[in-house]
Amino acid sequence: MSAKDGPRGGIDLGGTKIQAAVVIDGAKVLGQARRPTPTDGGPAKVAGEMVAAMQDSLRDAGLEGSALAGIGIGSPGDVDEDSGAVSNARNLPDWGGTFPLGATVADALGVPVRVGNDVGVATEAEARLGAGRPYRSLIGVFWGTGVGGGIVLDGEHWLGRGGAGEIGHTVVKMGGRRCPCGRRGCLEAYAGRSAMEARAREEHEGGRKTDLFKIAEKHGRDRLTSGIWERGLKAKDELTIELIDKAVEALGAGIASAVNLLDVEAVIIGGGIGVRLGEPYRDRIVKQMHPHLFNDDRPPAVEVAALGDLGGAIGGALLSSMSDRDRRRRETTEPGARAKVAS
Ligand SMILES: [Zn+2]
Repeated sequence: MSAKDGPRGGIDLGGTKIQAAVVIDGAKVLGQARRPTPTDGGPAKVAGEMVAAMQDSLRDAGLEGSALAGIGIGSPGDVDEDSGAVSNARNLPDWGGTFPLGATVADALGVPVRVGNDVGVATEAEARLGAGRPYRSLIGVFWGTGVGGGIVLDGEHWLGRGGAGEIGHTVVKMGGRRCPCGRRGCLEAYAGRSAMEARAREEHEGGRKTDLFKIAEKHGRDRLTSGIWERGLKAKDELTIELIDKAVEALGAGIASAVNLLDVEAVIIGGGIGVRLGEPYRDRIVKQMHPHLFNDDRPPAVEVAALGDLGGAIGGALLSSMSDRDRRRRETTEPGARAKVAS
């Protein structure tokens, strides 16, 4: 991104929050704002909150909407990068169908909008601007509502046939706990915020004592956000400690297995919980990885995402700044795209 580009907007659409930022010169944040992701009202309401969050962050930066050269959005679900439409975003309210997210936000703000996959956007941001800069190969592990993953091999974001990086659905226990994806024993079934919340609710309703829900109520939350889990840990709540311990153990096994397969130089831990719990939990994940590492005499570097909680929004701005040539190059290196040309 060159200075003449002017500031760009980035929006990270998450399962619990919408994070917007105004960014210049790669990763310099001029202003930012966040809003909770609506739990009802469907895609139109979510898009409305995204527009409002972007306007808040423009105000925070002391800028007018027209000052933006473009906006990029990292979204969950199936993203059509050409049209900006998003389908099957199942972590979001009533978003089973297809919604023209890019066009809706572009119309409301009068700025060109690009939409990319949330985890892909955050991985590229960490690889190009954050903790991944020194490395040619890495995996990004985004420990949040779910457990997302991104792979960079030899400097290129590896997309597989379009579905690569699903580290959250690698199996850490055969026949284990039911995952939000419907399968059993996935890493996400133990470490995803949403799966941990469901587990905590089950245990609580079964008579298990825990202060988690009291803490959530006290802070006006109807969900166990990453901040609530952190508070549960600080309050030494027994169920919180037990569920987080299990999550760390599962992350260690899942990440080590991915490293055994790919032998990457680095692992970047991001996501809402990953960033919030930070270095001490990075160290605990490293410890849990170790017994599962085949080449345990040369473990990869494991780092907390350097762009922190703003990585997704900064990645959105990065996506918006990428030239069409960059995008085409990416598209033609995607095996799925090549297969379409060949047939
Ligand atoms: Zn799964």
